[in-house]
Amino acid sequence: MKITSAILAILFFFSCNDSNSNQAAIASNAERKSPTTLKETPPAETIQMDHSIDLEFLMGKFDPTKHPNFIPIEKKFASRNGMYLQKETYEAFKKMHAAAKQDGVSFVIKSATRNFKAQKGIWEAKWEGTRPTTGVKNIKKEFPNPKDRALKILEFSSMPSTSRHHWGTDIDVNNFTNKYFEKGKGLKEYEWLKNNAHTFGFYQPYTEKGTKRPHGYNEEKWHWSYLPLSKKYIDQMKLRMKNETVTGFKGAETAKEINVVDKYILGINQECL
Ligand SMILES: [Zn+2]
Repeated sequence: MKITSAILAILFFFSCNDSNSNQAAIASNAERKSPTTLKETPPAETIQMDHSIDLEFLMGKFDPTKHPNFIPIEKKFASRNGMYLQKETYEAFKKMHAAAKQDGVSFVIKSATRNFKAQKGIWEAKWEGTRPTTGVKNIKKEFPNPKDRALKILEFSSMPSTSRHHWGTDIDVNNFTNKYFEKGKGLKEYEWLKNNAHTFGFYQPYTEKGTKRPHGYNEEKWHWSYLPLSKKYIDQMKLRMKNETVTGFKGAETAKEINVVDKYILGINQECL
């Protein structure tokens, strides 16, 4: 029996190395499929804990004006003074800006790093109705239920501690409406980004919602993320961030019920995961 098994094992080995055999074809198909599937949806257990990345940093609990990796954006690239990016993101953006200019396309950064405190300001103003939420006249009256109100604000705005804008890797460019990017000058800019941004490391995390992206924020054609850094951060968020950690602002109690970690932080374009 042992000899027979050995012979069979040898025969199987050679048949698998014979590119003309069906078995080999099946085996190599399986090999081709499995890494692709893993790459598309990496399970949390394959991600390594990276202690050099602080969870407090990922939650925006720092001051970008005092952080050694951050740099102010020059006025010529921005709609206002006082915005910051990580140095590496900024260098990549400047290269992309120069390349776009050659093609007659111009990008202006309208928003960059927003820490927890800044995001809390935006979120709570929307929560209280002192800052408008798209499509809403009186948020307190129209959305008295906390979960419903949070879901409405979450169409376009993140809960503090869950925003990609905390990281210094993400930028909003040119205009805050999708409509702007759907015709004329805006369409040309968006087409340029879709065709070229990836060569500079920038990707659109909030793509059109549908079967490929069923959850999360609405589409944002203006929001682009510098993936060489943000990919490392989303991996750590996937591994370490919990809904229970989302606290410290009005409406934070809805985070767990909504499952903001899976639905919003991770509800992004698969290319960014
Ligand atoms: Zn944004």
